[in-house]
Amino acid sequence: MPLTPYAKKVMKRCEKLAQFSQHPDYIDRRYLTKEHKNANLQVAKWMQQAGMRTWQDEAGNQWGSYRSSSPNAKSLIIGSHLDTVPDSGKYDGILGVLLPISLVQYFHDHKQSLPFHLDIVAFADEEGTRFGTTLLGSRAVAGTWQEKWGCLRDSDDINLSSAMREFGLDINKIHAAARSVDDTMGFLEIHIEQGPVLESRGLPVGVVDGIAGAKRFEISVVGHAGHAGTVPMELRQDALAGSAQMIVMIEKAAKEHGVVATVGQIHSSSNAVNVINGNVVFSLDVRSLDNQKRDRCIDEIMNAIEHIAGYRGLDAKIRMTHDADATHCDKMLMDELRIACENSGIEPFNLSSGAGHDAMAIADLCPVAMLFVRCAKGISHHPSEAVTFEDVLNAMLVARSFIELKARTCEHELVA
Ligand SMILES: [Zn+2]
Repeated sequence: MPLTPYAKKVMKRCEKLAQFSQHPDYIDRRYLTKEHKNANLQVAKWMQQAGMRTWQDEAGNQWGSYRSSSPNAKSLIIGSHLDTVPDSGKYDGILGVLLPISLVQYFHDHKQSLPFHLDIVAFADEEGTRFGTTLLGSRAVAGTWQEKWGCLRDSDDINLSSAMREFGLDINKIHAAARSVDDTMGFLEIHIEQGPVLESRGLPVGVVDGIAGAKRFEISVVGHAGHAGTVPMELRQDALAGSAQMIVMIEKAAKEHGVVATVGQIHSSSNAVNVINGNVVFSLDVRSLDNQKRDRCIDEIMNAIEHIAGYRGLDAKIRMTHDADATHCDKMLMDELRIACENSGIEPFNLSSGAGHDAMAIADLCPVAMLFVRCAKGISHHPSEAVTFEDVLNAMLVARSFIELKARTCEHELVA
């Protein structure tokens, strides 16, 4: 039965949802804003049209459930996020909400019932753009919400608990947003790849094997400022030249250890053409699916920074600013996704995610899987973010096959 009109609907709805923006010139939709509320209402309407029972939870996540008639049915959860970064594209997160809604519409139209509840979730905050902390929506669902987050403040100095009140939510009830482990079979997130791997392989979709764990550091290098004309080369303690050597070393170490490491931010305090630099602060972000491999690389980098600082007469201070372990996707769900790819005439291909996703948070609740969809040139968090209709259709075919496969396994278990 053709999914084509349903995939077309996904494309149209991505355009429609892009209109819910707090900025007139570009897409910007943040947690607990009027636009968040309106996007939830619109999505709830689409969910209801698809025969789903809808509700908004205590964290502001929008849910729709396609109910099973089986007694004691558990839920298979599929979803992603509706919030965006400023000046974002139309698909990051959004595709992973609208595609499964349209797929449920297909099941509903074809009177196809399932032996489990199919719950679609639109997480309210993944990007962390408003309050500076990511995955707030999915952490609430996973039951890992932290009390201290109520005090987080946005750039207008509004704290999260008052923003919730303004939105119509009560932070004291946030724990009610947590789903129960016993009622949940698993979680699938469909998301644009945000990288160039699928495009380079000529594949529409890929099965994610895990989400890299990241550690971040702030490294401050203190030397001695001086006159560019009067201090001889051998008497200098140039913080910028030392930092440059450290940064090149970081790149080399990452390649040798098979991890990714990035220095994306650098501040130099004198920053003048005729001054030897006395003070530099730079960032370091190291990621891998293998925590041990990542940590071995970090150890080597730290030793090398000390060594370079030592012989250049610099003082290097290292402070860790972020620490998250890698998340591994569930082997059985991955196998089922690979079979679903084969059933859809697509070569099954595994790849890792270097970016963080809601699935990381939900992994604390239940087994998780992710399906990546090819995006043009791997671009994301930008208005030129793009997916093709054909790739969306293929992702939908895989998702349908995956759900049907799960339904067959589930029915089998029920009979047995
Ligand atoms: Zn995303």
